[in-house]
Amino acid sequence: MLTTAVAENAYDLALENFDTAADALELNQDIRAMIKYPERVLMVTVPVRMDGGHIRRFEAYRVQHSSVRGPGKGGIRYHPQVTLDEVKALATWMTWKCAVVNIPFGGAKGGVTCDPKHMSQGELERMTRRYTSAILPLIGPDQDIPAPDVYTNPQTMAWIMDTYSMTKGYAIPGVVTGKPICLGGSLGRNEATGRGVFYTIQCTCEHLHMTLKGATVVVQGFGNAGSIAAQLLHEAGAKVIAVSDSTGCIYNQNGLNIPEVIHMKALTGHVEGFPESEAIDPNELLALNCDILVPAALENAVHAGNAAAVGAKIIAEAANGPLTPAADRNLENRGVFIIPDILCNAGGVTVSYFEWVQDEQHLFWEAQDVYDRLERVMKTAFRDVLKIRLDRKVPMRIAANMLGIGRVAEAVQIRGIYP
Ligand code: NAD
Repeated sequence: MLTTAVAENAYDLALENFDTAADALELNQDIRAMIKYPERVLMVTVPVRMDGGHIRRFEAYRVQHSSVRGPGKGGIRYHPQVTLDEVKALATWMTWKCAVVNIPFGGAKGGVTCDPKHMSQGELERMTRRYTSAILPLIGPDQDIPAPDVYTNPQTMAWIMDTYSMTKGYAIPGVVTGKPICLGGSLGRNEATGRGVFYTIQCTCEHLHMTLKGATVVVQGFGNAGSIAAQLLHEAGAKVIAVSDSTGCIYNQNGLNIPEVIHMKALTGHVEGFPESEAIDPNELLALNCDILVPAALENAVHAGNAAAVGAKIIAEAANGPLTPAADRNLENRGVFIIPDILCNAGGVTVSYFEWVQDEQHLFWEAQDVYDRLERVMKTAFRDVLKIRLDRKVPMRIAANMLGIGRVAEAVQIRGIYP
């Protein structure tokens, strides 16, 4: 398995980003004290009977960072490297992200430290149901609404929805988003993150007077977010010259046939071995000369040790936290245009919001309606962030954090403290 080279603490990065934006906003210390840290942190033990008959214990978390603007919202991650600090960081970013796209949610996140690739469907189902029971007091359609993240999917959401509903005694689809369509999922949710990434890249190209047709693209992480972004960029005429997943990287200077790569990944579970491509080293992938780099895997992919080699003009952060602050500074200084995660990948939570609205109303929308609304939300958010960047002469990341943190600060100031 490839690793994300440097183990920086994601939560330290989240706090550092907060301080930078709060300084730029000149937020007073009282407001900072009220919005900077998680409101609730739950750590649970999840015992699971494995297929061999023995019981294994998994550590798991649910963090609610903020409920200032609405119920908590955020995905659940299954990964061997999940830690409490990582979940706290991801929950913090969710708060600012929901505020950047101006949807009425706070931020939350969950995670189970496990290796889903080495678990059977039965083990995954039992683990998911027991984890749901453990976090049940915290979640609910008006409280905190989980969604998929790395190595969780619509099936995982269906198990959570069923466990929650059976405990309450009636069907409650609005407790999770990213569900299968037949359980109250939204059309367009599965491809929402990648589609949102695509819209922000379109906006960036317009801003930089670049054309997408013929632009070269590299995608690290060919999962939900990365593969859909690659597909839409491919359809728009861009040349996706390299993609990677946790098992390998493939490259073709003339452009990969992305629908075929998606097809092969669905059949085999990996991209390596794709015909009409050569295998390259994961470190080479980030250093490829290209117009657009889309890191769509995990945190800290670009760090002090490899940032100088990055050859892209635009970085679209489909993943959460893929650049360390040191990498960020290096790339900014070199004039690379960075679309920060809390803007770039906000399409997922935006359509999660649409799904929740549809569930609450029991009235479902056409796919085109979802796409049109998503495009409006993403392009408005991009314009709002860009305006702060240009007015205040700050990098896009600080501008996005200023927008999100500023909205949460305004809301908390008006709400005050009770009791
Ligand atoms: P996913 O599980 O569908 O895909 C993750 C992909 O990354 C897999 O193909 C995996 O093989 C690959 N990968 C893992 N480690 C890698 C490595 N070291 N190098 C290269 N590839 C590697 O997950 P996803 O939902 O696409 O999430 C990817 C990122 O996008 C995460 O940071 C997640 O938090 C973020 N994100 C996802 C959503 C969403 O709606 N899915 C929304 C917002 C943000």
